[in-house]
Amino acid sequence: MNSTRKPLIAGNWKMYKGGLAGVELASALKKVARDVPNVDMVIAPPFTVLAACAHEVEGSSIAIAAQNFYPKNEGAFTGEVSAPMLRDSGCTWVLVGHSERRQYFGETDASVAERTRVAIAAGLEPIVCVGETLAERETGQTIAVVNRQVSAFVNLLTHHAVIAYEPVWAIGTGKTAGPNEAEEVHMAIRAQLERRGLGMTTRILYGGSVKADNAAALLACPNVDGALVGGASLEASTFGAIARAAQGLVSSR
Ligand code: PEP
Repeated sequence: MNSTRKPLIAGNWKMYKGGLAGVELASALKKVARDVPNVDMVIAPPFTVLAACAHEVEGSSIAIAAQNFYPKNEGAFTGEVSAPMLRDSGCTWVLVGHSERRQYFGETDASVAERTRVAIAAGLEPIVCVGETLAERETGQTIAVVNRQVSAFVNLLTHHAVIAYEPVWAIGTGKTAGPNEAEEVHMAIRAQLERRGLGMTTRILYGGSVKADNAAALLACPNVDGALVGGASLEASTFGAIARAAQGLVSSR
């Protein structure tokens, strides 16, 4: 972490905790937020509990993200949810281009860029996800792939946007990039941001099997500004431990 950027710990609940359990988790996280004043916390519940979770965390420092949206403001798009609807539900953030969206729902660099543009226009802060597959890493293409993914949207970003580097092979697998592997990719992303004048301000999160026991080592990297957490964000104890690891690093400066 770098002292000029406030660490951000974001939890992607994926398709879990869509009912009362989600509201209970949001409630439990309010206590965690009080212990980590120097850390921004964002949670991304499923659509069905966005408004209830936003209501639950009101008055705390926790912000609400959606996991996806459709990049039109309104219209005959059955089953879809727009960025203004997310704002109305209490969201201030949105995940864009998560690898599961790219892998299972046909999202491309172009559709990720379009969602980034529409999210920013609607006043949502995007967390735009990038990352290479195992085959791409094993054939030495990691930096080229991530640079290509970032270059699709980097010229659309403002100072509020966040990029998450999530190697696909590390998501939900228990495998993490080591701190050096993560830092190498984060440095490449930082270089692209610097060319746009956004290098100092834009936070770059690491994601992929971040847990309480590996968080501090990853967060200690100078270009890692926080974490996007999946599985370990589903319990207040484990997500709280990661947020506290970030707070500990800030406090020890
Ligand atoms: C994610 O869903 O963005 C993620 C990183 O998941 P996990 O922490 O479970 O690997």
